[in-house]
Amino acid sequence: MHADLHLHTNFSDGTYTPEELAGHAARCGFKAVALTDHDTMEGCERMAAACRERGIEFIPAAELTAEHDGHELHMLGYFLDSKNARLQSELAKFQQVRQQRIHEMVARLNGLDVPVKAEAVFALANCRSPGRPHVARTLVQGGWCSSLDEAFERFLRKGRPAWVPKFKMSALDAIELIHQAGGLAVMAHPGLNHNDSLIPDLVDAGMDGLECFHTKHSTTLTQRYLEIADRFQLLVTGGSDCHGMSKGQPLIGSIKIPYECVERLKERVLQRAVESGVMLAGTAACKS
Ligand code: AMP
Ligand code: ZN
Ligand code: FE
Ligand code: FE
Repeated sequence: MHADLHLHTNFSDGTYTPEELAGHAARCGFKAVALTDHDTMEGCERMAAACRERGIEFIPAAELTAEHDGHELHMLGYFLDSKNARLQSELAKFQQVRQQRIHEMVARLNGLDVPVKAEAVFALANCRSPGRPHVARTLVQGGWCSSLDEAFERFLRKGRPAWVPKFKMSALDAIELIHQAGGLAVMAHPGLNHNDSLIPDLVDAGMDGLECFHTKHSTTLTQRYLEIADRFQLLVTGGSDCHGMSKGQPLIGSIKIPYECVERLKERVLQRAVESGVMLAGTAACKS
């Protein structure tokens, strides 16, 4: 009885289709999974259907690019109502600036005598929420770089000549956006942010949980965040952050959190719905 609450598909920078990802989730024996693509919920409908076919419980979600006090962080939203008008319009905005950023990165590369075309990146990405990994893959495919690492090291890493900063929403706004779409706000992989001092502000803004279990968290870090979650009475989540084959071995299966974590999340969503007197679409999944 386990779950993985952090997964990506090719609707953002993962390589698996929702159906492939659901197949892997079934082979890993997961009872529940969430799809947390970057700044999009486009893959959720297909993922829901693919999970239903395999008897896996599905949680509609997204990973929002956010910032607080000048530090980037990722805010996971779980049990989001993908039809929520404000959420849809904010996600559309994110996607538009991500696409614009591809044009800017390509222009910089062209200025560095790398004649890659934006159209090639968009064709490879084939999604509305493209990012640096798609540029990197295009550079490898076109023979300009021999590996993704080289593409990042030479051009795309922060501070390198083709790096373009990414649009980030205020984390406090992200929490509010997630809540008004019926969801729960959870800070992703806090161990990668190296800034735990942000957590109290996020808690004050109503953040619901902390992603304590993550592939890149050591046992010590996991323990640290479990303690912080306990101190601030935050819900505990976790996931592999699997991007398919884009980062070597697929990570799905490397993190298996107890299904009880999902039950706690569902209790909180239902409690919110009762308190607000509104039963949102995303909430319906919690009643089963
Ligand atoms: P973006 O959201 O467009 O800024 O791209 C961020 C993505 O690039 C994240 O999924 C990172 O894991 C990935 N990334 C960062 N550095 C590297 C690298 N050296 N090799 C492969 N992927 C990377
Ligand atoms: Zn990613
Ligand atoms: Fe992330
Ligand atoms: Fe992620």
